[in-house]
Amino acid sequence: MKRGTILPAALLVLVWLISIASAQKIASVPATSSVTMIRAGALIDGESNSPRRNVIITVRGNMITDVSDAGASIPTSFPAGVTFIDLSGATVLPGLIDAHTHIFLQGEVPAEGGYDVQLLKYPLAFRAARATVSARRARQGFTALRDMETEDAGYGDVGIKMAIEGGYIPGPRLFVSTRAISTTGGYPLEGYAPEIEVPKGVQIIDGPVEARKAAREQLDHGADWIKVYMTHRSWVSNNGVGKDGELVSQPTLTVEELRAIVDETHGWRKKVACHAYGGEGLQRALDGGCDSIEHGLVLTDAQIAQMIRQGTWLCPTLSVYYGDWAAADTPEGKRDRKRASEHEVSFRKAVKAGVKIAFGTDMGGIPWTESIAQEFPRMVEFGMTPMQAIQSATSRAAELLEMKGRLGLIAPGSYADMVAVSGDPLADIRILENVGFVMKDGKVFKNELASKN
Ligand SMILES: [Zn+2]
Repeated sequence: MKRGTILPAALLVLVWLISIASAQKIASVPATSSVTMIRAGALIDGESNSPRRNVIITVRGNMITDVSDAGASIPTSFPAGVTFIDLSGATVLPGLIDAHTHIFLQGEVPAEGGYDVQLLKYPLAFRAARATVSARRARQGFTALRDMETEDAGYGDVGIKMAIEGGYIPGPRLFVSTRAISTTGGYPLEGYAPEIEVPKGVQIIDGPVEARKAAREQLDHGADWIKVYMTHRSWVSNNGVGKDGELVSQPTLTVEELRAIVDETHGWRKKVACHAYGGEGLQRALDGGCDSIEHGLVLTDAQIAQMIRQGTWLCPTLSVYYGDWAAADTPEGKRDRKRASEHEVSFRKAVKAGVKIAFGTDMGGIPWTESIAQEFPRMVEFGMTPMQAIQSATSRAAELLEMKGRLGLIAPGSYADMVAVSGDPLADIRILENVGFVMKDGKVFKNELASKN
């Protein structure tokens, strides 16, 4: 802002401000609260089914206070205290939400030692340092993450969240699930000599008493969600147990064990996410009252009906099942292909039936260097409209997080988390892989698109 031009510019702006609905509110802004006005060429607000054109979004401090039609003439400079960001050539959307990530996991790249090396050889400080980098990568437009467990990095996610909220490191809003829970025989590390005690990627429980205690511990230490692994290994059946060629996965917790966790967690007014591929384990997840099914590779019609009846969410994470397939003629290769093909069928059925779906990727299982938004084209390929896919990562994901109206939405009363892309993501959803503007909590983190006064 050029100080020499304040007076005439201020008069012009005043006339213009009065012409839009937010004028009176701006006049009463406390001197301490910064005001930013963003002009959006197009606005996809996260909830409405069609975009608006030529809109002014007013941000005061960290909140959106007004969304109005911009009108015809826009002044070129603004008085002190108002920052104007011109995104008139861009599409503005709410900050995106990835509801399934692992900031403490780094891609499980076999050449780098895969999953095991991260638990066996990396000091926790090294893993925490890398988690801060993961969290920063998430600002490819993803301003909130539901992080789905630390993989034996204890309560590290609570610490990273504290550092972000305290302003010590940049990062998205984190909803954390700490250690996660499975049973004996239900999670790696495994395959080592029985005489050697190796760390496990989760807290192991056996029996409803231990299950409830684990949930209490995790909630007490800061878990926003409880994550439970309801299935473990999966393979294509070829030994006469079950139908040949069927994707089978090993169930873990009993319904009683899960019920103890769900009962405890709901008492704390928190929710339970269940990793479940299909079959018996997924059925137990539904019968035990899980709030969200993670992955859901094989969903029967009856299970989809049960999800709708119970209001259960599906967080599908499609893309992660399309990378790193083993050779086609190996049992692992057959399993990898079967997982993907079954998943597509289940996802299409769930979309059609109206199951509540939240966007999730399993980043961390996918290297953090890759694009988080790669999930969008996969969702559209398998039956969602581009608008449905966008809503799954905005208003729907916010609903999953109990943040309806506060995140995933551009409207008065929402936190000022927003992103912008040049072009129309409804015409080409891949545009979301190139977010050029990111604001979180009213602060601009990235701006490669806009001119600013
Ligand atoms: Zn995961």
